[in-house]
Amino acid sequence: MTLRKIVTLPDPVLRKKARPISKFDKDLQTLIDDMVDTMRDAPGVGLAAPQVGIPERLIVVEYADQPDVIEGAKPKEVKPKLYVMINPEIVKTSEETVMGVEGCLSIPGLVGEVERYSKIQVKGLNRHGKPMKVKAEDWLARIFQHEIDHINGIVFPDRATKVWKPEPEEEEDMV
Ligand code: ZN
Repeated sequence: MTLRKIVTLPDPVLRKKARPISKFDKDLQTLIDDMVDTMRDAPGVGLAAPQVGIPERLIVVEYADQPDVIEGAKPKEVKPKLYVMINPEIVKTSEETVMGVEGCLSIPGLVGEVERYSKIQVKGLNRHGKPMKVKAEDWLARIFQHEIDHINGIVFPDRATKVWKPEPEEEEDMV
């Protein structure tokens, strides 16, 4: 397990448009594995390559959808699903948008309220260069939008309607 250092603002790599990936070699596989380890260690639910100082179009997302809790029912264990996506692109968005509170591993000590599409479709390549498509909604959709912003040099305060320093009891999924 190799952890990479998570870079934080104002590192310029977070403000650059990252370049597309065309070589699916051993170095890329190592970077992907390191990013997954780094995300889990943080802990976070998403990480983009620029966040570990690499200006390339690669994101990892790992998130377990919380099912609606029905009163009296046993809470279901939901296993988080890992997505590794190269050159991701949002190809479809819902008309509906939702507000939500986001934090970012690259912006410690700040959260913000951000409007996002509630449903999206993302297309890209898997770690071996094969095409893949993901339909995401709710928090998963939000995480993908946050990570895809990262590879375009955009960070959440750029889009936030409000940002603040969270109270110690305020806990957000970090992306
Ligand atoms: Zn982030």
